[in-house]
Amino acid sequence: MSLNHHDYFTLRGIVGYPITLPRILGCDASGVVDAYGPDAPDGAPPVGSDVAVYPVRQCGACAACMGPDPMLCRRFTMLSDGDFEGSLAEYVVVPARNIVPKPASLTHAQTACMGVSFLTAYRMLFVKAALQPGTSVLVQGAGGGLGTAAVQLAAAAGCIVFASSRSQTKLDAALALGARHAVAAGKDAAKAVLSATSGEGVDAVIESVGEPTWATSVRAARQGGAIVVAGATAGANPPADLTRIFWRQLRVLGSTMGTLPEFVRLLRFVDDRTIKPVIDATYPLPDARRAFERLASGEHFGKLLIVM
Ligand SMILES: [Zn+2]
Repeated sequence: MSLNHHDYFTLRGIVGYPITLPRILGCDASGVVDAYGPDAPDGAPPVGSDVAVYPVRQCGACAACMGPDPMLCRRFTMLSDGDFEGSLAEYVVVPARNIVPKPASLTHAQTACMGVSFLTAYRMLFVKAALQPGTSVLVQGAGGGLGTAAVQLAAAAGCIVFASSRSQTKLDAALALGARHAVAAGKDAAKAVLSATSGEGVDAVIESVGEPTWATSVRAARQGGAIVVAGATAGANPPADLTRIFWRQLRVLGSTMGTLPEFVRLLRFVDDRTIKPVIDATYPLPDARRAFERLASGEHFGKLLIVM
């Protein structure tokens, strides 16, 4: 499995719902089917097959679940939320609809990066911002799990990628992953994006950092451009800069995770383009605490894996 900020926030108790104990953390998983309950559905991958886990469970009964975007279900839970125990374990129980065949070109460790970071990035880029080849996108916090996924997916799709980070090492790594422009985060970041786009700005901004980057996101988006927000890891209440938002007709789009069909499309896309997720470090299960410490430090580039 791979760690995500969701695990860290659940560990710290800073999520918007009551947490009951004991609790197994972990949203991302890839592994081998061990057994089905008494009612395995037709067409489910056979016991013994390699599978990726889709980490979201919707209620399946509300208007959103019956409509085109089940991610709008108000009662969705992630693996590790509520009665849905997590994947930081040798065995995990999930509904049969939540498993799909593992892409042949990826290892289990690489596949375990798909469920949260890659799926979130995929929906932000190609569903919410609806980016096409040749369009431009600024990825804020390009060194984290979500940021590296967004850089890789957007570059593979033929987008012009601007990667932003405070760290020169992470910027160099983002360039190696396919970003065309490296932007040092800070007060001159928007200026750098504007000067590289003839003063126009980018078609979309991928925002998950929050307070330190929001001012840049609002300034760097083009007239009518999109800012897609899927997190606020460094603070959720920046000055909104509403004048710029209405005057320049920006679209601020919230995004969370992705649907099962989007997960299936993501896996196919990653397999077709032979995208390899960036893995910062791998830990055995007993060293999970060290993995969490590294996630909290923000020093990692790419995903933190825990293997069983
Ligand atoms: Zn529902």
